[in-house]
Amino acid sequence: MSTHTARRDRRPAPPTWRNWAGTAEARPLRTVAPSTTEALAEAVRRAAEDGLTVKAAGTGHSFTPVAVTDGVLIRPDLLTGIRRIDRAAGTVTAAAGTPLKRLNEALAAEGLSLTNMGDIMEQTVSGAVSTGTHGTGRDSGSLAAQVRELEMVLADGSVLRCSAEENADVFAAARVGLGALGVISEVTFAVEPLFLLTAREEPMPLDAVLADFDHLVRDNEHFEFYWFPHTDRCVTKRNNRSAGPADPLPRLAGWLTDEFLSNGVFQAACSLGRAVPATVPGIARIAGRALSARTYTDIPYRVFTSPRRVRFVEMEYALPRAAAVEALRELRATVERSDLRVNFPVEVRVAPADDIALSTASGRDTAYIAVHVYRGTPHERYFTAAERIMVAHQGRPHWGKLHGRDAEYLAEIYPRFGEFTALRDRLDPGRTFGNDHLRRVLGD
Ligand SMILES: Cc1cc2nc3c(=O)[nH]c(=O)nc-3n(C[C@H](O)[C@H](O)[C@H](O)COP(=O)(O)OP(=O)(O)OC[C@H]3O[C@@H](n4cnc5c(N)ncnc54)[C@H](O)[C@@H]3O)c2cc1C
Repeated sequence: MSTHTARRDRRPAPPTWRNWAGTAEARPLRTVAPSTTEALAEAVRRAAEDGLTVKAAGTGHSFTPVAVTDGVLIRPDLLTGIRRIDRAAGTVTAAAGTPLKRLNEALAAEGLSLTNMGDIMEQTVSGAVSTGTHGTGRDSGSLAAQVRELEMVLADGSVLRCSAEENADVFAAARVGLGALGVISEVTFAVEPLFLLTAREEPMPLDAVLADFDHLVRDNEHFEFYWFPHTDRCVTKRNNRSAGPADPLPRLAGWLTDEFLSNGVFQAACSLGRAVPATVPGIARIAGRALSARTYTDIPYRVFTSPRRVRFVEMEYALPRAAAVEALRELRATVERSDLRVNFPVEVRVAPADDIALSTASGRDTAYIAVHVYRGTPHERYFTAAERIMVAHQGRPHWGKLHGRDAEYLAEIYPRFGEFTALRDRLDPGRTFGNDHLRRVLGD
């Protein structure tokens, strides 16, 4: 054996799994990709027999190590496809690994749609639901809030179905289950006939948005805005149902703003800001002005989602809705007072209260405040400063995004935390689905 080869052999094996942001990686002992519920159940049973822990991963769009395992990694790639559409009940059932993109396209082809969704559609249905992925909505909530039924494989390899009528206690928790209760094999969502949304995007000064925040939320079905730190500029987005006709963005205009400005130019600006932080405020001012007003009407997933090719890391907090404006003022003052150079906009969205134990909107009308930095830029000081503000306002961190909280804090901030952990003790007493991250956020 040559010296070169010997040296190479001493290196740790490369990770077999890495998340989208590059902030988590795993070297599982075994990786399986079951294509049926039965094969999934068999994989869990075998892992339990061998004394191995199990984690199902989606597409790795969580920023935390929530999906990491050194035992058996269940990949979603073959557990995909639409299993049933029930028009009378207004539901669609998708295998757990189905990407949201595929679900959206299949639904549109059938003249159906989800009611609300997040910014992108790369995630799997089970991964997105499990961490409480949400968009913005006055009356309509997260993806988990749109779930009507789940099929799950439990730690002993048995298959359990849950809904509001069947195993309702499991359903109340498992819709945002963090992968801690079992491996979801299929998800049934409520759907409705395909509809049109008119999007109105408009730059506004931050002070005007904050002064009018309650009205903007009340008067629009889906209101959100992005604020560019170091400036008073925001881009607001109002999406409301429309009787039509469809008036999609022309291909070139859509490409220019979504692909060229939002991904290409933004990527270059972020790289410059990372290399030379002093340029960040100037770039933010230009970026805040570059995006101009536009209106278009299209089917929901083309209005709600857009490609995100610029890699970033993110922390997002769910606050009681009434605390959002004050928290944003504090965040602005904190950035202005500091020498922080923030190269990514802050995103603000809302959701109505829901009835899921660990949903970030559980039991309270919610506003979400998300802070991001371009990947590779130090984020710790900014995120810590922002987190201090969010925590002072009873904030709940997104389960898939970076944060510094632990089970002790989360037990205080979620009135139904104990209900979730008691169910976890019952369904997974041996912690087959445990990992270090879950130990931190849920306890032993
Ligand atoms: C570019 C980008 C944009 C984003 N936009 C939004 C947004 O608009 N709104 C928002 O709320 N979030 C957003 N997120 C966060 C993202 O939606 C969540 O982190 C989501 O959980 C990722 O889904 P995934 O399929 O990648 O799952 P992963 O990140 O791979 O896994 C997430 C969790 O789900 C569990 N899981 C996966 N499959 C199963 C299964 N079959 N059974 C049980 N548990 C399972 C995993 O174990 C893990 O605990 C975004 C993230 C990125 C990177």
